[in-house]
Amino acid sequence: MKIVLLGPPGAGKGTQAQRLQESFGLKHLSTGDMLRAEVASSSPIGTQAKAIMERGELVPDQILIDMIAEPTKQPDAARGILLDGFPRTVAQAEALDRMLAGRGQKLDRVIQLVVDNDAMVERIAGRYACAKCAAGYHDTNRKPKTAGVCDSCGGSQFVRRPDDKPETARTRLEAYDRQTAPLLPYYKSRGVLSEVDGMAAIDEVTRRIGTLLKAA
Ligand code: AMP
Repeated sequence: MKIVLLGPPGAGKGTQAQRLQESFGLKHLSTGDMLRAEVASSSPIGTQAKAIMERGELVPDQILIDMIAEPTKQPDAARGILLDGFPRTVAQAEALDRMLAGRGQKLDRVIQLVVDNDAMVERIAGRYACAKCAAGYHDTNRKPKTAGVCDSCGGSQFVRRPDDKPETARTRLEAYDRQTAPLLPYYKSRGVLSEVDGMAAIDEVTRRIGTLLKAA
């Protein structure tokens, strides 16, 4: 099963992907996480991507296309993949289609998390994660059960992404509208697009996506 989660920054793609990968045995591939790992290791790609990511702009297509090729053909991707944050441009979507076709595969479903873009800056600016296990939290919507202690691993250190600042979040939302939203008609015309209300409660969004995946 090959699934793409689509939606603007803050729509909940990462949160949903983390939940769904376990229940459906899918390999979760977040290109944002992969790029952040490149930045953290100061690799040549990371060095090139760092300033672009800090500005909230998109990293060049070819870097992403090359980055996704290898992990999607590893044995742990055999049961399926859940792409989160890729593709983000029509050029990336076309390259993904060509790559899968070359392997005799295709995308099964593209799930669009439909959200109110105006609410996203607040969602993005309030989010943070456990430094140890990466469990996600939010200043108002999703606090740890005990203040300052991670529900999942008991860790007490938390981190915020540098590109989650309100100004950068706005640039990222603009990049989504300009460069990523054209993927909606692209996938709709191919008959693989499904919409899910991303403003519903987290559990409800997971349940609705799960229903779509069972039918895929
Ligand atoms: P994310 O964690 O998905 O919000 O991605 C964080 C940042 O990484 C984005 O704002 C972009 O700068 C970069 N990035 C992640 N995925 C892609 C992609 N598919 N194409 C271009 N840039 C990307």
